[in-house]
Amino acid sequence: MMSLMHRLPKIELHCHLDGSVRPATAAEIAEEEGIELNCSDLRELTERMTVSPSCTSLVEYIQRFELPLQLMQTRKALTRIAYETAEDAALDNVRYLEMRFAPQLHTRGGLTVDEIIGAVSEGLSAAEEKYGHCVRMILICMRHHGQIDNEVVVRAASRSKELGVVGVDLAGDEAGHPNELHTEVFELADRLGLPITIHAGEAAGACSIRSAVEKLRARRIGHGVRLREDAELTQVIRERRIPLELCVISNVQTKAVSSMENHPIRDYLDQGLLVTVNTDNPTVSGTNLTREYENLARRFRFSEKEIRRVAQNAIEAAFVDEERKEQLRERFEREWRELGLLAVES
Ligand SMILES: [Zn+2]
Repeated sequence: MMSLMHRLPKIELHCHLDGSVRPATAAEIAEEEGIELNCSDLRELTERMTVSPSCTSLVEYIQRFELPLQLMQTRKALTRIAYETAEDAALDNVRYLEMRFAPQLHTRGGLTVDEIIGAVSEGLSAAEEKYGHCVRMILICMRHHGQIDNEVVVRAASRSKELGVVGVDLAGDEAGHPNELHTEVFELADRLGLPITIHAGEAAGACSIRSAVEKLRARRIGHGVRLREDAELTQVIRERRIPLELCVISNVQTKAVSSMENHPIRDYLDQGLLVTVNTDNPTVSGTNLTREYENLARRFRFSEKEIRRVAQNAIEAAFVDEERKEQLRERFEREWRELGLLAVES
C-alpha cells in the first residue's frame, strides 16, 4: 500500500528546475545534442547529478548543477525538463507547485530570457493540463550577476505574469555575494508588484535574513535555517508572519545545519513560525516531498496534524491570489476528509 505521506495532497514552494532533471532525460538530451558527458552508464550519471553524503558546503552542492545546466540551453530541452518536473510533482501528489529557475543561466545557446520563460512555461502548462495541479514560476536573480542582468530578469518577470510568473528570488553563493549588492534590483521588483522571496540564512547568518526582509523586501525567506541565531529577529519574522521555505534534507547536505538532529524545524514550528517544507532540488538532493514529509514524521515526530499545519502554511504562503488560495484550501480539506483526516482548526 502506498504510504499516507505519499497520498497526502502537498504543496511545493521551493523547487529548482535545474536541480530536478531526471538523469535518464539528461542522458537522452546529451545524446540528441551530441554533448559528451563522460559517463559510462546511467548509474554514474545519476551519481554525478546527486550530492554525495560527504558534501561539505553550499558551494560544493552548487557544483552539481553544472551538468544539467549544460543540457538546458535549447527550447526543446527546457520544455521537456519543465514538463517532466511538473509531472514528477503531480505523481507525488503535489497540488500546487512553484517552480523556480534563473533565466540568465540558460542563455548560452543564444536563447533570450523571454524565449527561456516561454519554453519553461510551455512544459509546465502541458503538465498542468494533463494532471490538473496548479503550477507557477518564480524567476531567480543570481547573486554573482550584476545589476543589469538581474534587472532584465525582473522586467521579464513582470511581463510574464500572464504566463504564470508569480514572483522573483535571489539565489547563489550567499556568503560571497551579500544582499546589499542587490537592493536596487529588488526595489524595482517591488515597484513592479512582484512578490519577493530571498535565499537567506542558509550559507550566511541571521543578519542576511534581516537584510533580505528590510533591504530586499522579502515576503518569504528561502531556508532561513540560521534565523535562530537572532532571537529578536525571530520575533519579528513571527509577528510579521513571514513564511520560511525550509528544505530539511538539502539543509543538512549543504551544511546549513551540522546534522539532521540539529535542524531547527521542530523548534520553529513550536515557536509559531510559518514553517513550510520543500525539496529544494529533487535530483541533486535525492528527495521528493513524500520523503520530506516522512522525514518530518520520523525524525522530528511531526504528528498528522502538524504535517497538515505545514501544508496549510504553504497555502497561505503561496504567491497566488486569494481566490486561488481558497480553491486550494477547499481541495485540501476535501482530500484530507477522503483520507480520513480532519482539517486543522486555524
Ligand atoms: Zn533553493
